[in-house]
Amino acid sequence: MEELIVKKYARILGIMCLAFLILIASMPELSAKVSAAYDALIARWEEAQLEKEREIYKQFIKDTKKEEEEPTDIMIPGTIRIPVAEGLDVDSIEFDNDFMNHTLTIFFPGTDEDILKDYPMVGNPDHIDNLGVSSDKKGLYIQFMTDTVIEPTVEYQDDYMFLTLNVPRDIYDRIVVIDAGHGGIMPGMVVSNIKEKDVTLEIVNRIKVLFDEDTSVKVYYTRLSDVDIPLEARVGLANDLNADLFLSVHLNSFGQAFNDTHGTMTMFNELLGNENNRSRDFAKIVNDALVSALGTRNLGVVNGSTIYIIREAKVPVALTELAFMSNRKELEMLTNEEKQELIARTIYEAIIKALDEGF
Ligand SMILES: [Zn+2]
Repeated sequence: MEELIVKKYARILGIMCLAFLILIASMPELSAKVSAAYDALIARWEEAQLEKEREIYKQFIKDTKKEEEEPTDIMIPGTIRIPVAEGLDVDSIEFDNDFMNHTLTIFFPGTDEDILKDYPMVGNPDHIDNLGVSSDKKGLYIQFMTDTVIEPTVEYQDDYMFLTLNVPRDIYDRIVVIDAGHGGIMPGMVVSNIKEKDVTLEIVNRIKVLFDEDTSVKVYYTRLSDVDIPLEARVGLANDLNADLFLSVHLNSFGQAFNDTHGTMTMFNELLGNENNRSRDFAKIVNDALVSALGTRNLGVVNGSTIYIIREAKVPVALTELAFMSNRKELEMLTNEEKQELIARTIYEAIIKALDEGF
């Protein structure tokens, strides 16, 4: 009985639907209206979908920001997190900071490159221009090319290294750049087979021994071996570091044969003006100290602004011409080990004096 009624109603409903469709088909105006309503409905649904997606995206941004603002214990702002292989002694990790080329290489002995696939490096430290990863039988090398001179500091926690790339100015109070003149294929003056580049390097290496004992000053050396460094890179280092002092060590020479011309002079940058010329003040401290220690003739401080590294220096610069290679007696002094040690100590003390005077 009930089944019959349902069938009956279903049939009526079917007929009504058919009649409705025929009606719509026969009335183009109504058909257009239905079609427009349908389009509007679809548009509204699409809009709703978009809105939903927008909400999800907004939430994602919010979450990411929250993570950035409230770093968890695994992230330290401004650092990069690098995995350390299980069992690796962190003291065996080697750092090679080639500050002349703005390249820091960290060597992880016995580490496979795949560790970075499982535990990728994360973080967003400043100053990174480029990153290189390579490995060989000995281990993994990670190389950071930076936009300026940096000093790395690291912390270790839970099988991770947290690396910070610091601008030296942010971690060192006193910064000095010392430049051993010439080098490599550029010998400087050559007298009796003695090359200026070798003597300046010997003296600078002796200065380094003294500064290595003194943690109050951070000293950068443009070279510590027999290599030719472009002038731009030498003065560029001092400028990049915003060094307190920039000293270049040279030997003088005059004429083609041994002669009587002798004495100590130091050049400064006259372009920095007459009043409060820090370059001249620094040059005078160095020159006076050398003259007094070596007993050489005082040729004073002279304008050296025609010399590239002096002219381009944006920091107090002095280029000292210790004595004359072309003078037999002075050449003997310059190559004497005890005198070289005296020169080194005198320069070291002059730099400390200048820094103490507020350079
Ligand atoms: Zn020279």
